Amino acid sequence: MLDLHVHLLGHNDREANQENIRAFLKEASRKGLKEIGFADHDYYWDQMNFPLIREVAREFPGLEVRIGLEAEYRPNEEDRIKNLLSQYPFDFVIGSVHEIGGWAFDYPEEEPMHRQKEADRLYRDYFDLVTRAAQSGLFTTIGHFDLIKIFGIRPTSDILILADEALTAAAEQGLALEVNTNGRYKPVREFYPERRLMEEIKRRGIDFTLGSDAHSAEIVGRDLDEAILILRQIGVRNVTGFRGFAKVNYTLE
Ligand SMILES: [Zn+2]
Ligand SMILES: [Zn+2]
Repeated sequence: MLDLHVHLLGHNDREANQENIRAFLKEASRKGLKEIGFADHDYYWDQMNFPLIREVAREFPGLEVRIGLEAEYRPNEEDRIKNLLSQYPFDFVIGSVHEIGGWAFDYPEEEPMHRQKEADRLYRDYFDLVTRAAQSGLFTTIGHFDLIKIFGIRPTSDILILADEALTAAAEQGLALEVNTNGRYKPVREFYPERRLMEEIKRRGIDFTLGSDAHSAEIVGRDLDEAILILRQIGVRNVTGFRGFAKVNYTLE
């Protein structure tokens, strides 16, 4: 269907050369995707090569190739992101929170720190940043909406209460939230966001998009068939892609 969260540059261990771009697009075609969206991390800005992606994309006429960005949201850095967004006509931009007050919390070695903290505090601090990211008006999409669960630590309070303001902001701004299948390969072993949140997102009429968060070509499209199955089970009939920040609607088959 569509995969709007793939990292051509991986963790900056791959290059934006023809061979690598082709490998991603081949895998997308092989898996029968209609749309693929590159969204490298903004901190690898200097390594990106959008014209080359456009050039290689011509070899794949059956595939819509979108160019996006996964931008790190930090409060007070909105101008930095605005500046990047002004330099290229992006199709979509994922706003993601991987840091709380300078603490990059999603690295494997940070798990002990998660266990030392009070879970509800952690979730509140995280969703507070997600809320601000959503309110910033900079993004089309919020990435891995409940990333804070990465190590499987659950809050005491109801997740729907903890995430309430972030969901409200996402709805008000017309943002899309992704089902990001990569969470299954983290200690938490489930997609982002969890099913109760998916149901609440649906209830609030917020659009879904899909992403594998692939950091290498063979991961493109991974488990998206299952993500679609879950969405259908909870009554979602459409997911959204993007072209020049405008939503492109796909009906789930
Ligand atoms: Zn991310
Ligand atoms: Zn990512």
